[in-house]
Amino acid sequence: MTAPVPADVISRLKAVLGAGGWSDDPDRLAPKLVEWRDRWVGTTPFLALPKTTDEVAAVVGICAEAGQPITTQGGNTGLVGGQIPQGEILLSTERLRAIREVDAYDDAITAEAGVTLAQVHAAAAEVRRKFPLGLASEGSATVGGVVSTNAGGTQVLRYGTTRNLVLGLEAVLPNGEVWNGLKHLRKDNTGYDLKQLLIGAEGTLGVVTAASLKLFPMLPSRAVAMLGLGSPDDALKLLARAKETAGGSVEAFELMGRLGLDFALRNITGTRDPLAEVHPWYVLVEFAAAEPGSAETAMERFLAEGLEAGLVNDAVVAQTDTQAKALWAIRENQSPAQKPEGATWKHDISVPVSQVPAFLDEATAAMHAFAPGARIAAFGHVGDGNIHYDVLRADGGSDAEHAARRDAGSRIVHDIVAKLGGSISAEHGLGSMKTAEGARYKSDVELAAQRAIRHALDPKRILNPRVLF
Ligand SMILES: Cc1cc2nc3c(=O)[nH]c(=O)nc-3n(C[C@H](O)[C@H](O)[C@H](O)COP(=O)(O)OP(=O)(O)OC[C@H]3O[C@@H](n4cnc5c(N)ncnc54)[C@H](O)[C@@H]3O)c2cc1C
Repeated sequence: MTAPVPADVISRLKAVLGAGGWSDDPDRLAPKLVEWRDRWVGTTPFLALPKTTDEVAAVVGICAEAGQPITTQGGNTGLVGGQIPQGEILLSTERLRAIREVDAYDDAITAEAGVTLAQVHAAAAEVRRKFPLGLASEGSATVGGVVSTNAGGTQVLRYGTTRNLVLGLEAVLPNGEVWNGLKHLRKDNTGYDLKQLLIGAEGTLGVVTAASLKLFPMLPSRAVAMLGLGSPDDALKLLARAKETAGGSVEAFELMGRLGLDFALRNITGTRDPLAEVHPWYVLVEFAAAEPGSAETAMERFLAEGLEAGLVNDAVVAQTDTQAKALWAIRENQSPAQKPEGATWKHDISVPVSQVPAFLDEATAAMHAFAPGARIAAFGHVGDGNIHYDVLRADGGSDAEHAARRDAGSRIVHDIVAKLGGSISAEHGLGSMKTAEGARYKSDVELAAQRAIRHALDPKRILNPRVLF
């Protein structure tokens, strides 16, 4: 909890923001103080709602002068609590809503920080382009949020994370100055790449006010299939075959354990078992290509070869868009489907792709020993080595007892990840939740360098002070 905000800071902020540009109404603040999993509940004396980059700069400038901490919030879909203030002023980007430019020749879109990912997709589609970052939270997650968390998602295998998808940024630095780095350049070797420092900085090095994002052609040939498999090892072999068969057309390759499908069948209305029999593991595969029919042909060949090699037990290929969406819904509902099942230790880890089966084997054996009866729901972007490894309390067990053992259980999982050369936060960042744990797995050299960069830009540590090192 930070110190109370001085009255003169509040009155100066009100003056620059004007009527409608701020709030201290508890009903207006309430939804911004609770995050999606209800794990973080915050407090703030003041909500700043700037409408322009200049207003953001004015807010940050006043706070910099006074040493007043600020937490920035976009769509509030972050899963590690970084956007939830604990006494700081809350700066929301919800009124930075303009799409400034869509350029089909530069294959670029420039959107302000508060534009949602779904709105970016819609604006790109109008010029027959696609922005290839897909998240289950895309109706609320914002441009500023995805940039600041370096969001991943289901198509990283083909297009990379947000880090690979940003051409330029505009941001207000911690001293209140505006940096306009909104470029459409594919090549620019003129010194340090400041935008890459801000991407994934979780709001600690600046408030992102707009971003120029890369667009790609729409690919009309698309094939989506759900496969039933015996093991993650088979998934790994199939991933290699998919790349060989479909080349760069592999757009997604998502692994799910049966338990996650059972949760979806039980807790998400309208979910149907995609295959006639029960399989221990499932993979959702999507191929996309430009030439009509080519993704479909590649999928047929891939599945025929997989069945013949004994790697695929059974498969269903979506015949319509509706069927494809239903298969994707199973994957996207893996996390929501867990909610009614009780307390969970969530892990968003990555290991080298080749180590995914070893990680799953080792972590699951360790969890069964540490928490007998705990239910393991593992799913994720196996093509990126990124697994959401969730350990739920035993059926009928106590939520409170399970929650009380979270840190000790997670430490076991994280140590296995570190041993395999992995990361304890693959996509969600460290936020308030994992900053201390993240520091544990970084070398002193790296921590010192990161702290020096932050101190140089934000000597009073006013931006998201609880987050990162
Ligand atoms: C159902 C669900 C599915 C998800 N799936 C994925 C997934 O597949 N992959 C993935 O990577 N993430 C996923 N997420 C996590 C989340 O959606 C992403 O982290 C997203 O990028 C957050 O965007 P946001 O606008 O909601 O940011 P917020 O939650 O508001 O903020 C997140 C962080 O970014 C900072 N921030 C926000 N806006 C700015 C800004 N303009 N300038 C500076 N800092 C800022 C905040 O201070 C905070 O530290 C999922 C979340 C949910 C609820």
